[in-house]
Amino acid sequence: MLIKKINYEQKGIIFNMQRFSIHDGPGIRTIVFFKGCPLKCDWCSNPESQDPLVQIMFNEKNCNGCKKCEKKCPVGAIDMLRPGRIDREKCTGCGECAENCYPGGLVKSGEETTVEKVINELKKESIQFRRSGGGVTLSGGELLMQPEFAIELLKACKARGWHTAIETTGYTSEAVIDKLIPLVDLVLLDIKHLDDEKHKKYVHVSNERIVKNAKKISALGAELIIRVPVIPGFNCDEKSISDIAKFAKSLNGVQHIDLLPYHKLGANKYENLGLDYIMGQEIKTPDEATMNKFKKIVEEFGLECSIGG
Ligand code: SF4
Ligand code: SF4
Repeated sequence: MLIKKINYEQKGIIFNMQRFSIHDGPGIRTIVFFKGCPLKCDWCSNPESQDPLVQIMFNEKNCNGCKKCEKKCPVGAIDMLRPGRIDREKCTGCGECAENCYPGGLVKSGEETTVEKVINELKKESIQFRRSGGGVTLSGGELLMQPEFAIELLKACKARGWHTAIETTGYTSEAVIDKLIPLVDLVLLDIKHLDDEKHKKYVHVSNERIVKNAKKISALGAELIIRVPVIPGFNCDEKSISDIAKFAKSLNGVQHIDLLPYHKLGANKYENLGLDYIMGQEIKTPDEATMNKFKKIVEEFGLECSIGG
């Protein structure tokens, strides 16, 4: 593909870059995590990814009580006696507090950046990409919430010959799909439920747009892997998994489904952000026998299946 013009000044907000990943696409990869997500899955293990703006996470265990943060905050959003420490209505996300917090009690989540800055970081891994057949995966949050940034970044990756993948909910307009998909070698698409009422109740948006875009991505000829978070009380049953497998089979370009068992690894982050963890502590990770049963259901549709991605 001939890339004519790239806007290296295009701005975006990311909250992490993870190097040497061997998941989320072939070879050795760097994952770029975009901030902001239009979905609000109750089980989200990266709640810091949901808000599109910079946020401050407070971890009381790391706080030594030095009060530097309280003194440095320019808008008086920090009160040492306040539960959760930060008045999030007042906080502007300037990051002064976190920059002055050496023990790590306060950590900034999210950084405004540009395509140029991200590419300069990615260039450090270009030899690994070439040797391993790897590349770059854009993830989140939801990268499609920052379509201009995603498109310019993908163009810059493609211009360097790097393999490109996106890990997405597919929740965007058709116009964005049309522009973005030709720049992507592999799409890792989350399908959480085909029952729209359940989808609305637990994901807090309709699945209509996601289902439509899955068909569109497939029609555009992209290689697709469907990812299913397996969540007790939501889709951890034979019918839900079978419905998704049947839908996946109907899409061109899908040979594989990843089943991702629910886990609680992100639960403490909710507290650090002053949020409630709706799932609670009592819901358990689906056991091996249950996951193997679902794997078999997927394979009966003639699809390959991995547990855990
Ligand atoms: S600067 Fe950090 S360590 Fe000091 S009081 Fe604030 S949160 Fe605690
Ligand atoms: S990010 Fe800025 S405004 Fe928010 S609490 Fe920290 S210093 Fe105050």
